Amino acid sequence: MQPRYKRVLLKLSGEALAGDGKTNISPDVLNYMSAEIKRLLAHGVQVAIVLGGGNIWRGGPAIKAGMEPPQAHYMGMLATIINALALQDALERNGMQTRAMTAIKMDEVAESYIRRRAVRHMEKGRVVILAAGTGNPYFTTDSGAALRAAELDADVILMAKNRVDGVYSADPRTNPTATKFDHITYFDALTRGLTIMDSTALTFCMDNNLPIIVFSLDTPGNLERIVLGEQVGTLISN
Ligand code: UDP
Repeated sequence: MQPRYKRVLLKLSGEALAGDGKTNISPDVLNYMSAEIKRLLAHGVQVAIVLGGGNIWRGGPAIKAGMEPPQAHYMGMLATIINALALQDALERNGMQTRAMTAIKMDEVAESYIRRRAVRHMEKGRVVILAAGTGNPYFTTDSGAALRAAELDADVILMAKNRVDGVYSADPRTNPTATKFDHITYFDALTRGLTIMDSTALTFCMDNNLPIIVFSLDTPGNLERIVLGEQVGTLISN
């Protein structure tokens, strides 16, 4: 069966890596994610991953507590590099070839991000892990995911969520009347103020016509079902 998507940008939040929250990075979660990602490679799908850092550090709360904003944001970007190394280790132990690339130079631990090299790695079947977001303070890794998806010509951004399986009209955890969308436009998502990704990232996706699928990684096989063209989660597009 031919996959619907040939090249995907998977966004994993930092929080997802923490699992039940007893540690910042759960080896069980890393193993589970690795197995899910491996199912994509079996179909010849090219995979780039952008990782968040919220399990270790986020700029926002530290800034509220008085820290200088750029300093706090750089710490967040460094947190994503720690996560990238952990995921790289798990993917490789699960038999995949990988390259970690960082938007902030750290030559001893990972390659610097160069767009054309990232493309070449994916063409060779390597999973490319993109760390340090955009490399710029004041942004988020959602913006990093949107930017890299555009640069790398990904067919779709796959936004993995925990405990929620798509985009709802309201928060389904607090509002029992909330209904799930199979599809929603960027404009609707923005004007309804739905918390899917931050508005800078969502606007970027809208301007560059980058489809997003919001889905739950908690259900085994979901990632594979999406690339094979099944209706899973919520599609955001024009
Ligand atoms: N960050 C940044 N620029 C970027 C990406 C991230 O300054 O391009 C900082 C920002 O402070 C953010 C933190 O890194 O709070 C962690 O990233 P994020 O909150 O996106 O992680 P997630 O919520 O996906 O775990």
